[in-house]
Amino acid sequence: MVDYEEAIFIQGRVYKLRCEHCSEMFSLMGVSAENDTQHMDVMTAGQRGGQGVVVYKTTGPEFGSIVRGRPVEVPQRILDIVECDDYHTSRIVRTEDQNDDLRGLSRSEYLKKARPPKLFWKCPFCETGEAVSIAEMKPGEFKKQGGKLTVIHPLYLGMEW
Ligand SMILES: [Zn+2]
Repeated sequence: MVDYEEAIFIQGRVYKLRCEHCSEMFSLMGVSAENDTQHMDVMTAGQRGGQGVVVYKTTGPEFGSIVRGRPVEVPQRILDIVECDDYHTSRIVRTEDQNDDLRGLSRSEYLKKARPPKLFWKCPFCETGEAVSIAEMKPGEFKKQGGKLTVIHPLYLGMEW
């Protein structure tokens, strides 16, 4: 049952990621909320292999340790809900501009052809690897493909568009 008093509706896309070093796969959801400040303390974690994704709101102390740059682990309370210990978080470590070849074009041509930057996530499975997106989809498509998406109260999946 949705408690509308507390509910925060989120949306976003699911990224399937693969480490370029160890080839391990996992998925994460890129989350946004109605109000920009509402998703600051929202975390997403993925199951080894890429079939499961969980999205949760961190508690104050959990968020504090993320801000201080401590290694981020998925809290036990979340692992208990998804009934699996093999969920891991990640973060974007760098981005790569993909529009080198567009230099010199007029602004309107550039905007037409520009691609978003390529994102690199830290691999949670090996020390040095970076993971890149090999597929990107709406949450509904992810579920249709057999993915398990768990969104934990007070977060709820909003309308998809
Ligand atoms: Zn790796």
